[in-house]
Amino acid sequence: MSPSAAALTSRLGRARQAMAEQAVDAMLVSLGADLPWLTGYTAMPLERLTMLVLPSSASGAGPVLVVPQLEAPRVAPVPEVFSVRPWAETEDPVAIVSDLVRSCCRAPAPVLAISDRAWATFLLQLQERLVGASWVKASAVTAPLRAVKDADEVAALAAVAASADRVAAALLAGEVPLVGRTERAVSAEIGRRLLEEGHDRVNFAIVASGPNSASPHHDATERTIGRDEAVVCDFGGTMDGYCSDITRTVFTGPPRAELALVYETVAEAQAAGSQAARVGVACSEVDRAARRVIEEAGFGPYFVHRTGHGIGLEEHEGPYLVEGNSTRLMAGHCFSVEPGVYVPGRHGVRIEDIVVATEQGPMALNKAPHGLTVVA
Ligand code: ZN
Ligand code: ZN
Ligand code: ZN
Repeated sequence: MSPSAAALTSRLGRARQAMAEQAVDAMLVSLGADLPWLTGYTAMPLERLTMLVLPSSASGAGPVLVVPQLEAPRVAPVPEVFSVRPWAETEDPVAIVSDLVRSCCRAPAPVLAISDRAWATFLLQLQERLVGASWVKASAVTAPLRAVKDADEVAALAAVAASADRVAAALLAGEVPLVGRTERAVSAEIGRRLLEEGHDRVNFAIVASGPNSASPHHDATERTIGRDEAVVCDFGGTMDGYCSDITRTVFTGPPRAELALVYETVAEAQAAGSQAARVGVACSEVDRAARRVIEEAGFGPYFVHRTGHGIGLEEHEGPYLVEGNSTRLMAGHCFSVEPGVYVPGRHGVRIEDIVVATEQGPMALNKAPHGLTVVA
């Protein structure tokens, strides 16, 4: 599903407006998620240059996608939105981009925004050609815009979340055997199930058992999962370009009182964070709402990461739910709420859902249950 011409026109218009407001004369969009968001086209991360030259709304010029000739057939043309300039194997694409910038930016010292993930080699060559230009990150323009999802994007995020939920439901129902298998084997099975349930790609499948569960970004290892352990499963992937990300923690035997208390605390913190995520509330307040529950239970020092991150075309994008982020939630902001408690060397618990802020209040896109679950 690629975005409609109307959606692209709206996004390009908002980006060009934001550029004019920030005194950015042109934006050079290369690798990363900004390009598919603006054009529907994803560049190959190769040595040949792909770059959208996007002048601000102050310029009369239109956007031009400079693309290697051999990749041009992959571009779905939207002529009313942008034009395509294929470059032949013997042409110099940096010269083409530089000429386009000079013709759209009359200022002697233009301000140019460039994709955060553009190769350094192209930025360095452009800096040599465009002497006098100053450079800023494209994300300063695009991140706040991309963070607010339109209805089609929310629908895509809901669909990919539902697909991940079906895998979480199988896990919670004990249909994914754990005891006696390695973390790596369980991780591979979760990945397989994500694909079976409709994902196009698996981005990660953390399986962290026993003491490994105390490491928030643990990678699945050859450790064999035993009885009476916590197993943190955090997995996600991409479907139609949009990402899923869900965590459930299950137990391979009834947890001792202390671990059960950790679980109930994290579940309560997750609910408090989700409920706090109302339009107009600062991101830092959502973090505080979840953190307060964990601090009051005495586990504060063991909650070592932010409460959540935005999600969309990328797994991690704005807005970040973290102390110090005064950004106020708007309808269409989509993000994870994923508090955790990690007691080093012993155990950890995390619960994560994707939530969207709406005028009617926060809405969880993940529906898999949160109750303490013991599986075989
Ligand atoms: Zn993470
Ligand atoms: Zn996650
Ligand atoms: Zn996450």
